[in-house]
Amino acid sequence: MTVHFPFQNTYSALPSNFFARVAPTPVASPRLIKLNRPLALQLGLDPDLLESPEGAEILAGKRLPDGADPIAMAYAGHQFGHFVPQLGDGRAILLGEVIDADGIRRDIQLKGSGPTPFSRRGDGRAALGPVLREYIVSEAMFALGIPTTRSLAAVITGERVQRETMLPGAVLTRVAASHIRVGTFQFFAARGDTDGVRQLADHVIARHYPDIANAERPYHALLQGVIARQAELVARWLLVGFIHGVMNTDNCSISGETIDYGPCAFMDDYNPATVFSSIDEQGRYAYANQPRIALWNLTRLAECLLPLFTDDKDQAIEQAQMILSEFPEKFTTAYQAGLRQKIGLFTARDGDEALVQDLLDAMAKNEADFTLTFRGLGDAALDSTNDSVRRLFADPAAFNEWAARWRVRIADEPQSAAARQALMRSVNPTFIPRNHRVEAVIQAAMNNDDYAPFEQLIAVLAKPYEDQPDFAEYADPPQPEQRVLQTFCGT
Ligand code: AMP
Ligand code: MG
Repeated sequence: MTVHFPFQNTYSALPSNFFARVAPTPVASPRLIKLNRPLALQLGLDPDLLESPEGAEILAGKRLPDGADPIAMAYAGHQFGHFVPQLGDGRAILLGEVIDADGIRRDIQLKGSGPTPFSRRGDGRAALGPVLREYIVSEAMFALGIPTTRSLAAVITGERVQRETMLPGAVLTRVAASHIRVGTFQFFAARGDTDGVRQLADHVIARHYPDIANAERPYHALLQGVIARQAELVARWLLVGFIHGVMNTDNCSISGETIDYGPCAFMDDYNPATVFSSIDEQGRYAYANQPRIALWNLTRLAECLLPLFTDDKDQAIEQAQMILSEFPEKFTTAYQAGLRQKIGLFTARDGDEALVQDLLDAMAKNEADFTLTFRGLGDAALDSTNDSVRRLFADPAAFNEWAARWRVRIADEPQSAAARQALMRSVNPTFIPRNHRVEAVIQAAMNNDDYAPFEQLIAVLAKPYEDQPDFAEYADPPQPEQRVLQTFCGT
């Protein structure tokens, strides 16, 4: 039986040095673990077909759907600050692009589907744990309303992969607005291939920034556009306590989506220095460093675009610096607006920044849970007691002091307490993918072939802003013995 996907591929029509044509490597006995049925429909794919044995073979890379033009994309990247001129898709293969129900072009990519010319010494495979982690966290980010790649499916391959131990192999089907990264521009720039940079920029403008196609200076506008989306994105991360973990330039998406869920994690108690990734020994990608790192990555993008700005190098640098200097304000505006909403403010006034910073400082000092504090604050806005929040602080009096100032500030706004609580509930989730829950799901799958906890966690995280009293324990922070101190890339 041939299975047809409505592919309309554009990236594979770019010059041949943009990618390597390579098919997935067939695997022994694929088994579908999870299909994201709503996403399949959104992409114009038949969920029943994808759940059939043929579907599992496609999602494992054992069989190619009709119309696929499988490629591994070329890219470079700074990893922890060190430039690597060639990385590329070493364990991912782009099957093709489809136009989704909203008219947006989406890449459909298999991650873990076998070696490619970019694999270097890697096996091109993925282990089950990281595949489940990416599925859970990317879909949780989507439900939170944060731009992200998505997960269409997870399959186990029936083969084992060698990591520190032998682990079950798996393939994730990832869906993205595109997989073009800052590192993709660096690939061409590092080779002095200005035509390549220009062709890539033109492709990106047509695909992700169509509004600027007719701008007077489209490449300047492109840099501005990417900066705006990254500033907004990183602000959104901070506002939910998300730590990406590996903000290398090859993991920084040009479309402004969160991409590459490796050792990412959400923090429990608020501490701006939080790092989970086992490989981030210096804390380069710590929670509070993320805006600074985003700007560093965008500066690398700007360097790639310089030859497109003007032939006068000094002038090009000056123009790039002007544009880059917009990042801090864009980030701060988005972050502060988000924080104001988190504490239930409808208006902006002098002193608000200090007010919210004092709360964050008190949370850090008192090891208050980030998610529960803000969610509880919404209830505190309604019931005018501090009970829902003060218990989260090591010294409850620290919250009382702050709350007294906060209540004076909100009393000065005309909105009702109910309206304020509704605002706060719409931005302060109850449910985030807590590390200990994610770990428990992975252990059940790996040790007992039990996917019920995975299904349950995904279902709860699909409605992060609802109360879901039957699943209240999913909102709980870890007990001391449940705490996950480190996360691993799992490559
Ligand atoms: P990541 O840490 O997932 O962002 O990957 C960094 C680079 O290493 C990319 O070029 C990946 O394609 C490559 N890579 C990661 N894991 C593997 C693997 N198991 N086999 C081959 N290449 C890999
Ligand atoms: Mg990557």
